[in-house]
Amino acid sequence: MADGWPDRWLVLALPAVAVGCDCSGPRSADAIAAEQLSLPVLYLTAEGEEVTAPSNLSDVMIAPRSRRLAFRAYQCINPDCPNRDRGSKGRPFLFAWPDPLWRIGDKGDVEYEVVEDRMGEIVMRGGTAEPTCPGCLTHRNVRSESAEERQRYRDWVVYYELPESAARSRQLDAEYRDRKGLGGKPAALSP
Ligand SMILES: [Zn+2]
Repeated sequence: MADGWPDRWLVLALPAVAVGCDCSGPRSADAIAAEQLSLPVLYLTAEGEEVTAPSNLSDVMIAPRSRRLAFRAYQCINPDCPNRDRGSKGRPFLFAWPDPLWRIGDKGDVEYEVVEDRMGEIVMRGGTAEPTCPGCLTHRNVRSESAEERQRYRDWVVYYELPESAARSRQLDAEYRDRKGLGGKPAALSP
């Protein structure tokens, strides 16, 4: 992790240290959870540059090559999404939820501008108040739709999961279940 990153990032990245442990015996639940949370995810810049990185539990990062802000990639699971078949590279159609309150500060860190009315400010600066599928947006009348309808569209927008991370996640789920099945093994067996 580069110097000058906000402390929050360093703190959140710390559990990943445990991932490299090749201790014999079952791993602790914390170690499994730490790996689960740090599995690689996909980020997108506004220009469409893709960055694969450990999630670090944040929706934003700086793309190492272009030094631009990159946001977590989302996909839309609406079966009638107009962009349903517009994916590429074997992936569904992907999009980001850029938050204009994030910026890269003078020191090269990600900075978040604290404002009173966060959602209002985001919308005023051309963002959307929630992750929004640009394909579905062309079919919506956001001003007049009901709260239920809006929620339905919101529920269709989910994080895109890299296939390799999804596979590893299933392995970790199994590891966690097996571990729970160990019952009363001595704590000394866990790292
Ligand atoms: Zn959609």
